[in-house]
Amino acid sequence: MGLVVQKYGGSSVADAEGIKRVAKRIVDAKKNGHQVVVVVSAMGDTTDELIDLAEQVSPMPAGREFDMLLTAGERISMALLAMAIKNLGHEAQSFTGSQAGVITDSVHNKARIIDVTPGRIRTALDEGNIAIVAGFQGVSADSKDITTLGRGGSDTTAVALAAALDAEVCEIYTDVDGVFTADPRVVKKAKKIDWISSEDMLELAASGSKVLLHRCVEYARRYNIPIHVRSSFSGLPGTWVSNENPQGDEQVEHAIISGVAHDVSEAKITVVGVPDKPGEAAAIFRAIADAEINIDMIVQNVSAASTGLTDISFTLPKAEGHKAIDALEKAKGQIGFDSLRYDDQIGKISLVGAGMKTNPGVTASFFQALSDAGVNIELISTSEIRISVVTRQDDVNDAVRAVHTAFGLDSDSDEAVVYGGTGR
Ligand code: ASP
Ligand code: MG
Repeated sequence: MGLVVQKYGGSSVADAEGIKRVAKRIVDAKKNGHQVVVVVSAMGDTTDELIDLAEQVSPMPAGREFDMLLTAGERISMALLAMAIKNLGHEAQSFTGSQAGVITDSVHNKARIIDVTPGRIRTALDEGNIAIVAGFQGVSADSKDITTLGRGGSDTTAVALAAALDAEVCEIYTDVDGVFTADPRVVKKAKKIDWISSEDMLELAASGSKVLLHRCVEYARRYNIPIHVRSSFSGLPGTWVSNENPQGDEQVEHAIISGVAHDVSEAKITVVGVPDKPGEAAAIFRAIADAEINIDMIVQNVSAASTGLTDISFTLPKAEGHKAIDALEKAKGQIGFDSLRYDDQIGKISLVGAGMKTNPGVTASFFQALSDAGVNIELISTSEIRISVVTRQDDVNDAVRAVHTAFGLDSDSDEAVVYGGTGR
């Protein structure tokens, strides 16, 4: 029996009852002969509440003190969990990210892990303890300040520790039974996926699926760590995410479509009246990049022959919208455009699956399903294994359900149970 890393999300440890329930599960894994490392998130909506609090004392909290504040959430849950385990007669020790050897760069609020040196975790395990680690945090190699990894970063902590400790599996416990063919909060007939390739999971995560963080899947793929996503509320087996199908590729026919993802966290900026000449797009996206904003889709219209002007639209996280508008306004003299339009009432729907490469009808069926549902398409983008459209935000849920049905993904039963969480 090897070492397992288990990660429990905020909704799994939302209250004292949850913590006790999770403690029992952890002890069971230990009793089965595993060495157990647990990564835990802040209780329930604690992180959001801490952010609300910070915003009441400072208009745009950020940087060092913001990280100091947010990491407190995970320290509460790690200590309570260790206490609950001890109460069941087993040894447990909790560690902050820094104590667990999670070393990051010095970018506050979205630090990247650059090394993991889990010496103290090893020692704790060798002495027979269950090791509990605070998720979503580390320590900067340069400044020695406490950093956070960005929202949802506990998944990344778990996979990084699993890689550094050479764990046999990284189990991500959440409030649903695994990865579904669509968000079970929107599609009641979503189906649980037994196994999904890292490649498809990366696209789903990049397209707005919230069950696993993109960065965590990327990390797991790089270090070849199998992830098992499952519910901490039911005993059911969940979804395996790995580079190779554990059953071998020959035995299982590849699904053409893995799932439908949606995202309502983006906004659209249209730069109106851009001169249609070389260097214009470069100037626009240089200004955006200099403001350290990641963009998603880009569309340039054909220019009007009479004016020689064109429009360029792109999507970006809503949270970065104001920063982007400011950056473009500042560079207006250089770029030369008429005006900017900002629209945060958009949504994105994506269809993902490796089978798309070899099935030419997929795009047509996708557009047909949207049209049958009366959904208007505003932007389109594709990769080899994904097709995404931007629509009105109000249309997103209907669109997801229509596409899910059109591709035969609906299950016969309502198996998509949401056990907890506020979806916040
Ligand atoms: N508590 C942090 C958050 O809510 C980290 C996590 O849950 O993974 O973003
Ligand atoms: Mg959380």
